[in-house]
Order: sequence, then structure tokens, then C-alpha cells
Amino acid sequence: MYDVAIVGFGPAGAVAAGLLGQAGLKVHVCDRRQGVYEIPRAIALDHEIMRVFQRLGVVDEVQRFCEPFTPSEYFGADGQLIRRMTMVAPPYPQGYTPSIVFTQPPVERALRALVARLGNVTVQENAECTALSQDADGVSLTIGGETVRARWAIAADGGASALRGMLGIELEDLDFDEPWLVVDVLVNDQGLARLPKTSVQYCEPERPCTYVIGPGNHRRWEISLQPGEDPRHMATPEETWKLLSRWITPQDGELWRQSSYRFHALVAQHWRAGRVFLAGDAAHMQPPFLGQGMCQGVRDVANLTWKLASVAKGEVCGAAAERLLGTYGSERKAHVMELTRRIKHVGEVICERDPHKARERDARLLAECGGVVKDTPRQDILPALTTGLVAPTAGAGTLFPQPRMQSGELMDQRFGSGWRLVTDGALPIEVPPGLRPIDMRSEPEAQGVVSSWMLRHGVHAAIVRPDHYTYGAASSAAEMAQLLTQWQQR
Ligand SMILES: Cc1cc2nc3c(=O)[nH]c(=O)nc-3n(C[C@H](O)[C@H](O)[C@H](O)COP(=O)(O)OP(=O)(O)OC[C@H]3O[C@@H](n4cnc5c(N)ncnc54)[C@H](O)[C@@H]3O)c2cc1C
Repeated sequence: MYDVAIVGFGPAGAVAAGLLGQAGLKVHVCDRRQGVYEIPRAIALDHEIMRVFQRLGVVDEVQRFCEPFTPSEYFGADGQLIRRMTMVAPPYPQGYTPSIVFTQPPVERALRALVARLGNVTVQENAECTALSQDADGVSLTIGGETVRARWAIAADGGASALRGMLGIELEDLDFDEPWLVVDVLVNDQGLARLPKTSVQYCEPERPCTYVIGPGNHRRWEISLQPGEDPRHMATPEETWKLLSRWITPQDGELWRQSSYRFHALVAQHWRAGRVFLAGDAAHMQPPFLGQGMCQGVRDVANLTWKLASVAKGEVCGAAAERLLGTYGSERKAHVMELTRRIKHVGEVICERDPHKARERDARLLAECGGVVKDTPRQDILPALTTGLVAPTAGAGTLFPQPRMQSGELMDQRFGSGWRLVTDGALPIEVPPGLRPIDMRSEPEAQGVVSSWMLRHGVHAAIVRPDHYTYGAASSAAEMAQLLTQWQQR
């Protein structure tokens, strides 16, 4: 019997397998395909995800396929600049460039190679999961015609998730449905010289589109389709080059892929059915305007896996174990719903088709910034956790920073990823078992990342969860005592 069976070896499944395997659990992961999907879908990642890759030990390999994300300039109906999305300035709060462009297939290969090195993880490719049943002790999955039995299962089988269907879980439609063409081009030097030097959102009512500067000579266009345009016809090379003719011609590069998609905003009604948890695209899909789809899947499994590991190892038992596992869906669904709402709002700004309303939008955005477009860091759009295993204190639910220590190491390299109590030394604290104390006076940071986080939230100490989200924080000894009591009870 495995501890966890994971269906789907895409990014969500591979990160789940890596984290659970490294936690010492016996894991089975299967995929109906052999090898990674060789076409890039995700192009952007966040520093939060790099921190997960750091924990897995693949960050150096992954960084070979990453570059900083250029600013995205939004141009209005008359071609004027109306918004500029950037990233937070150094010192970087998570230890990595906050917004990154990357090449998905080699990054997925790095994740799979890591999983293959874990002796307690069984990988089965070319093996489709076709049936699922569960009882009080575990889950039985039919995979490649054989039965695989595990205490829990994770359905990371993508947007069309068969497991979600087998569990009878419906998707909630968050009301976004647009046909777009996504085009990846490997551009030559002649073409690169002609292209914009930042990424661009063309918020033009006749045909909204996005231009993204990917790593190396990879450039992506996401181009909205108009009513009456046949998505398959528009994805032919001839039609694609016609759409690209505003920027480049076939002499300037080669098409890597072009596919039409419906950009959706969908979220699973329930994220758990008994012993089976949904994660990644199986649980949610959002329009790619802020490059968050894969990031959300990695957040899901970073959240779920430490909880499963705690319960599997008997660190949390009985009703408390059930409550802990129950926080996965409540925390992640609320986060995904809020982020999707914000992404939809960005999408609605970009996708306004009515020229009159588009000009009103441009005037409103410019009025909001007093006529001078300011930089908006993309990270400002990410919500905090608002529910589940977080205390009602300042800073709770936010991603705790990862400073570089004066010793040269990043905080997680030095202290690991368990439950931590980070203090600036101002409060007298008796640290209970189960929390690793990190006193910033004796372990000084190099650039003031934690001290500015504490100053911003008006606190002197914070309890940090294994997924690096802040459980709660305190500004006085009395608040700290209360927070610790609550934490121990929960
Ligand atoms: C055009 C586009 C642009 C995007 N841009 C970004 C971006 O910039 N940033 C970002 O973060 N995200 C982006 N995304 C989203 C991102 O690509 C996805 O969210 C991510 O790849 C989903 O990962 P996953 O592991 O959940 O699912 P998938 O990658 O779909 O993996 C699911 C796996 O499950 C396997 N499987 C399915 N059914 C079964 C079965 N029954 N048995 C066994 N195996 C099965 C499949 O073969 C597949 O390998 C974009 C997506 C698109 C389409």
C-alpha cells in the first residue's frame, strides 16, 4: 500500500511527487503519456515557485531555463501607455527574481529527473488511470489495467480531469470565456531588432492581444479571436503569419507552435472527495493574463503535501488530522477564487471590445494615476490566505520572506522548511516544541528583507508554516503568548 498515489505527472503532479517523496512517504505517480509535453504552455513563473524548486533541490537546474520577466506595458485604444506592470524592486523578498519567464519542457524534465532519483517514489508512465474507488482505509485506482492501492490520492490529471468526473465534482464557471490564439515563435536576430523591448498588452478594441518576451529568442503572442473566426483556421500557419504581420514576417523567425484556446475561469466546487484531493488544472483554470495557472498548481501541492506528510507520519491524528486535511481545500479554493477574480479584472481591462468604453477605461486608468503611469509590481496582485490554518493577526496568510543571511545562505537553506518561529529578538518568548526558533539577532540577514516585513506589519515575531505562509504574528509579549497557545491548540 502506498501512502499517496498521484494521477498526472505534469508540473503539479511532479512537484507533489517530489515533495512527498522527499518527506519520506511511499508514493506512486502515473501519467498516461510517456515523457513531458514538449510544447510550452506556461511561460511565466513567480519567485514563490522558485522557492519550492529550491526546496526540491532543482532550482539551479531550473534557472538555466529562466530569465527575468520584462515589464509589461499596456497600450490603450489610441496607442497611449495606460499601465505598466513590473516586479518588486531588490532586495527581492523571496530570494529570487520576483517574475520570471521560463521554458516549460526542460523545467518539467528537471522535476521528473528529481522524482526518478527518489527510491520511495514509483513512476509509471504510459499508464492511464481509468477507475477509482475508496473505502475507510484507502483508495483503489485502476492504472494501466492494474490496481494501485494508496491511503490517499491526488488527482493532478489536468483541466479535463477524468478523476474529477469519476468523483462527480462539478466545475463552477466564474464567467470568462474567450477564444484566443497562442503563438510561440523562435525569432532570429533580424526579427528581434524590430520587436518591442518590453512585453506588451495591446488593449485595442478591434483585437486585444499580448506580446511576451520569453527566454532567449522565444517570443509569445496571445491574440484574441473575433466572433465568426474559426479557431482551427486561424491556427493554420498562413493565417497565423497574417496576424503576426504587424510585428514580423516568416523571414524573421519560425513558428514553434500555434494553438487556439478558450480562456476560461473555472474552479472545482469541492477540492476533496473522501481520500482524494484535486490539485492543479484539475481543480481550477484561469485566463493566462498574469501567468498564474501553473503557479497555482504548484501552490496547491505545496499546501497539500506538508499536511498529508504530517498526517501520514502520525504527527497529527484523529479529528485534528481531518481538520488539517480539510484546510487544504478551504485555503486554496478561497485563494484561487480571489486571484481569478483579480485576473479576470485584468482580462476585462485588456479585452474591452467597445471602442467608446475602451476610451473611457483609458481615461479612468490615467486619471487614477494622475496622468503619469506608475509601475505596478505584478506581485501586488497576489492575495494572502484568508481562511484555514491562519490566525487573525497582522501579516497572517502572507508569504513570509526568505532573506539571504549574512552567512551567504538563503533562509530555507540554513533552517529548512518546517514550522518556524522567526523573531527580531524584541520579545521574551519561550519557544514550544515543534517550532524551530530563528532569532534574527544571532542569525543576521544581509539585506533587511525580514526586518522591513516586520516593520510593515508592525510585529516582532511570526510563526511560519512549512509552506512558508505566515500562520500569525505578534507585536507584544501578550500577543505572542496568545498566538502560541492558539497554535498549540490548533
Ligand atoms: C496558452 C497557455 C498559457 C499559459 N501560461 C501560463 C503561464 O505563463 N504561467 C503559468 O503559471 N501557467 C500558465 N498556463 C497554465 C499552465 O500551463 C497549466 O496550469 C499547467 O501546465 C497545469 O499543470 P497540471 O500539472 O495541473 O496539469 P497538466 O500539465 O495538464 O498535466 C496533467 C497530466 O495528467 C496526465 N493525465 C491526464 N489524465 C490522466 C489519466 N486518466 N491517467 C493518467 N494520467 C493522466 C496528462 O497526460 C498530463 O501529463 C498557461 C496555459 C496555457 C494553455
